[in-house]
Amino acid sequence: MSKLNDFFRQMANIEDVLEPREVKGKKVVKPIYTRQVVTIIGVKTTKSRFLPVSHEGHGIETYIDKVDLLGKTRAEFIARKLKGIERRAHMTLFRELVEQHTNDGWQAFFAAKFGKECVVPDGLCIACWNCSLFGGLEAGRGATFSRIRYFDTYSEEDVVECVAMLESEEGMGIGNVIFEDINKPRTAETYHLYEYVKAGTRFPFITIIESPTLLDVAGYLWAVRRADEHGYGKYSANHGKFDTEFLAISTGYPRFSVLDMLEWMEEGDLKDRFQPDNPQVSFDSIQGVITLYGEEVESIAARLQEEFEGYLTVL
Ligand SMILES: [Zn+2]
Repeated sequence: MSKLNDFFRQMANIEDVLEPREVKGKKVVKPIYTRQVVTIIGVKTTKSRFLPVSHEGHGIETYIDKVDLLGKTRAEFIARKLKGIERRAHMTLFRELVEQHTNDGWQAFFAAKFGKECVVPDGLCIACWNCSLFGGLEAGRGATFSRIRYFDTYSEEDVVECVAMLESEEGMGIGNVIFEDINKPRTAETYHLYEYVKAGTRFPFITIIESPTLLDVAGYLWAVRRADEHGYGKYSANHGKFDTEFLAISTGYPRFSVLDMLEWMEEGDLKDRFQPDNPQVSFDSIQGVITLYGEEVESIAARLQEEFEGYLTVL
């Protein structure tokens, strides 16, 4: 329990980070840098078809992103896509929390507290919890830096094993491009072929939150689980479902990268390195590193409601 309390003590106060300040009569996120960080480490495993695509397809065919790395050709899951989906999931969670804890609809609440409804990605308010964490800008009002850092990640498995493509046993998927636009009528021209990452493919990840409040960390854990159910990647309404296993949360910067994690997976000892009784990973911090492993992570997620109530009191 004291370890958990030590972790909590290294988190920034909600008033210092998340309470908006007024600039020329408008609410804006505070610029803050506390020198503290929280690093979240885990592995995401696909549980449905996943289409990590960051480019236009060729004609009616869509190919997933691939990269040659550490002796394999791997599916690539870029940081920008991870961040985009998790940001939306975080906003959905945020709106639900508002409606649970207040009598207002989220629209009225956002208008009253932040000066406008906050819409990701093009109508950001730059005053709310989501904007403070993920950053954003608004013409004529200013910009706020993101406090959350994502890194590109790659499949542990070679695409020969983990991707259904033209040459593979499964062949490419056959779909209909109207997946994301149900208002267009179905026609033969809307059919297309797509490659996809198969279920059971693993992507290690590292996420760093700067100047973290406990609410930021708890909210992030919840947002990841929401995003897992909603889906990542192209056609995410039907595809891109994940299971996420959180291996560790630390108040230090990791002395390892996603590439090291891929090598540990190759060697078969990734999870052994994150055992609470004998961890074999290190983190750097000037304030003394507190690292929680495995199930201990749930103690952070469990603080969501209480911390959100704290946030409401400073708004
Ligand atoms: Zn906002």
